[in-house]
Amino acid sequence: MTRAQRTVAVAALVVLAAGLAAGLLPAAGSNLGQGLSSLLTLAAAWTAAVLGLRAAMRTSNLRNRVAWRLQCAAYLAWSFGPVSWAWYYLVADGSPQPSPGLIVIRLAFFVLMLAAIWAMSRAAGNRARLRMILDAVVAAAAVFIVAWGGIFGEIWERAGAGRAGVAFGLTYALSDMILLIFLAVLVATEIPSGHRRGPLLVMATLATITIADVTFTHRVMYEGRPFDAINPGMWTLAFAFSAVAALGYRGTSPRRETATTSRFAVYGPYLPIVPAAVTLAARIATGSMPRAAEVVGLVVLFTAVLIRQVLVLGENLALLRRLEVSERGLQHKATHDALTGLGNRAMLTARLHELLPAPPRRLSLLFLDLDDFKEVNDSLGHPAGDVVLTTVAARLTTVLRQDDTVVRLGGDEFAVLLDDFDGDPRALARRMLDMFQEPFEIGGRHIALGCSVGLVEVEAGDARTAMELLRDADIAMYAVKRGGKNNVQLFNPDLHHTTSEELELRADLVRALDDGQLHAAYQPICDAATGEIRGFEALARWTHPTLGPIRPDRFIAIAERAHLSRRVTAAMLDSALADLGGWIDAGAPGHLKVSVNVSAAEISDPALPVRLRDALARRRLHGHNLVVEITETALMEHSECVVTAIRRIQALGIGLAIDDFGTGYSSLARLNRFNVESLKIDKQFVDDLGTPRGRDMIAALVALARSCGMATIAEGVEETSQRETLRDLGCDQIQGYLFSRPVPAADVPALLGTKVA
Ligand code: C2E
Ligand code: CA
Ligand code: CA
Repeated sequence: MTRAQRTVAVAALVVLAAGLAAGLLPAAGSNLGQGLSSLLTLAAAWTAAVLGLRAAMRTSNLRNRVAWRLQCAAYLAWSFGPVSWAWYYLVADGSPQPSPGLIVIRLAFFVLMLAAIWAMSRAAGNRARLRMILDAVVAAAAVFIVAWGGIFGEIWERAGAGRAGVAFGLTYALSDMILLIFLAVLVATEIPSGHRRGPLLVMATLATITIADVTFTHRVMYEGRPFDAINPGMWTLAFAFSAVAALGYRGTSPRRETATTSRFAVYGPYLPIVPAAVTLAARIATGSMPRAAEVVGLVVLFTAVLIRQVLVLGENLALLRRLEVSERGLQHKATHDALTGLGNRAMLTARLHELLPAPPRRLSLLFLDLDDFKEVNDSLGHPAGDVVLTTVAARLTTVLRQDDTVVRLGGDEFAVLLDDFDGDPRALARRMLDMFQEPFEIGGRHIALGCSVGLVEVEAGDARTAMELLRDADIAMYAVKRGGKNNVQLFNPDLHHTTSEELELRADLVRALDDGQLHAAYQPICDAATGEIRGFEALARWTHPTLGPIRPDRFIAIAERAHLSRRVTAAMLDSALADLGGWIDAGAPGHLKVSVNVSAAEISDPALPVRLRDALARRRLHGHNLVVEITETALMEHSECVVTAIRRIQALGIGLAIDDFGTGYSSLARLNRFNVESLKIDKQFVDDLGTPRGRDMIAALVALARSCGMATIAEGVEETSQRETLRDLGCDQIQGYLFSRPVPAADVPALLGTKVA
């Protein structure tokens, strides 16, 4: 038993003994006994109040502190009752009579307690609060109908001349019930199960007071004798529950959780209607009419249900509208370039997918890359570069028809897709070049830009895929660059073999793979809430013997074109699993994960699952130690054969994450069928977190991912504020420079030793 538990136990025993004494003393029958018993009751209420004040000091949460203080105030207000009884019994030597003063005290208790419960509520937003009140009103009206139909109504009718006393008792009993119901609704709908102990003890307080007050009322009615042994004992016991709650309070408050969608939360609030209906039906069946008070109760009940219905309907509509807006925003964002407002690569790919199965008479794809754009950026700065890009975009749209697709592929690369263009696309491309020669005015300076254009023509029967067409256009564009820039080149297969720089790098890459020059850098993936490291993403690194470090985007692209992806993955897989095995052997947790990126081309390779299984077996690791990251676009492009491969990978217990989510063109509904466990939200969304729209977008993404059973990992988190927002929005895990840049394997044990703050 800890010291705190011992204190609670001793306190509970003391108050119980006091309760027993308070109950037994009046049995002596003397006014002295009654008076002392009142004083004991008083002491119990004050003890609970003082302990509550102490509990208030323990929490840093404002709402909780206010709740405790209001509760204390309520108990103090309540204690004026026993004060007055003690005065009657001990000083005035008479017996207490119902008085307006006592009613005021009771109302004060009711209002303060109601406010305390209100403060305990964590409901977000006024609508949620209003709904909670309505739930309480429905429940209270139902209980009123049952209570009045059952016993109170009869007491009231029979009271005749003694109504003042009965009204007094009924006010007590009914206000107790309302408090109890209010708190019960709060506990059921809003307090997470791990945090219910305190509120349940306070409920026990209210329940005990209710029982004491009901028996009190009953006795006033039937025996004309307000006080006796039981009530003071019960009141004392009631405050004992609150005292225990206050002693056991540790000051922690639950995290705000997303609304529960359990059936109980949906239908629960309507349950109280059942007993009310049964009571009324029983009355009518036995031939008596419902009393006026019951009819009033019924009207209140139905009005509350009706308002609640309207409210929920409104909420649902608002939610739907939000979802719609987010989906639309998501689609727009996924298919558009933020800077220029043009379409992006995803849009172009989608359009090609749409057209390629039955190409129109003629399809032309132009790949444009501005010449020496880097110099503009370097000498005039990025903002100037952005102005150039938006101007280029605007000029491009003016020379094209409505049906043509123009997109920004990234950086200073643009593409144009001409659908059934009946002129000469080369002539059009030249017109574009002329257009770029017209000077751009930037910050008072005039600059002209060159542009290299690669052109691919697609005739009916062409079997190239969207990716291959883009690659060919890129190759043609590259030929222009090498040939002196600012020109147009039509693609022909010979060009494939002439990109000599790439050919050299390709040869070097093969050698690097042979010699094991490629190695992995590791970036931690952390729990968004606790900061604990859950795993690492392995990122390929290649330091070229003469050129120095080569950016992964660059050599990965070369590997893909040269059909070397498989070897890169094999190398990374091997390093990553060997390193992970070493960390686990050195004491890292056995559930640590390492994520390995798998290229688009590879995911449909039927041998991949077997290779993954063998790699794991070699290091004596388990499926749960490995996560395979596949880009969203890879999934979509190869969707048919990928489904089987993915099933087989998952059957091995290996995790699957969708990489760069939001940069491709896919709806979550389509992703859903792959049954993937996590979604990596791309950095561009995280960068937008500062804006309300950006926040909404991530909130919607997280909600949608969750509804598909996927966890979310945010990428590229660089700032504490981003992490906090992401955590509050319910994002599960986080990766980014904020925690750590990708580090060499040797630095990982040090990272594992420190929990990220
Ligand atoms: P990715 O899979 O999306 O990897 C995340 C990239 O974001 C990494 O770039 C990482 O260094 C970077 N990053 C992480 N946190 C931050 C941050 O807070 N701010 C910023 N600005 N960047 C951050 P890296 O290492 O340059 O890799 C680039 C891409 O190359 C990867 O993107 C992945 O698509 C590809 N790649 C890298 N290694 C492999 C590999 O072994 N196999 C395959 N197929 N692709 C790989
Ligand atoms: Ca990745
Ligand atoms: Ca990524």
